[in-house]
Amino acid sequence: MLSEILSKEECAKCRICCCFDDSDLWEAPVISDALAQELADMEFTSFAGGRILKMPKTLDGDEELYYCTLLDKEKGCVLGDKKPFDCRIWPLRVMRFEGKRVIALSPVCPVVQTRPVGKIAETARKLSKRIFDEANKNPDIVKDYEAGYVILVTE
Ligand code: SF4
Ligand code: SF4
Repeated sequence: MLSEILSKEECAKCRICCCFDDSDLWEAPVISDALAQELADMEFTSFAGGRILKMPKTLDGDEELYYCTLLDKEKGCVLGDKKPFDCRIWPLRVMRFEGKRVIALSPVCPVVQTRPVGKIAETARKLSKRIFDEANKNPDIVKDYEAGYVILVTE
């Protein structure tokens, strides 16, 4: 969904957003009811009010990380175009801010940070109806606002 500002090739070299640590496990993608049915052989757990994949903690260098169980380290996400909605819009996020829903940009993605903010905001505006519609269907994807996220669209 973000092909105007991010290419598959750039993501293939990165994969930062497919692993988590204890401080950002809340960013793990929420698995919708429909996707959970398709992934019947996977294990899930409840975290921060939403259903996420159960990910074993692994030692990577001196860091303990949770790698998404759908990540093939050679080929990338095994779901291809069927990724969870959270992954399709990342590094955008739907958040609660001062009583309203907003679309905000995570400060974590190293590639999108290099794009002009006006272009990122334009992309967020174009996608906003789709994103808020999805948040209506699956409110678990709406997270509390975190400092450092740049608000691009307010509902
Ligand atoms: S952090 Fe950004 S560049 Fe890296 S894989 Fe995720 S979306 Fe792609
Ligand atoms: S579902 Fe796919 S894109 Fe999303 S975190 Fe897991 S491997 Fe990455």
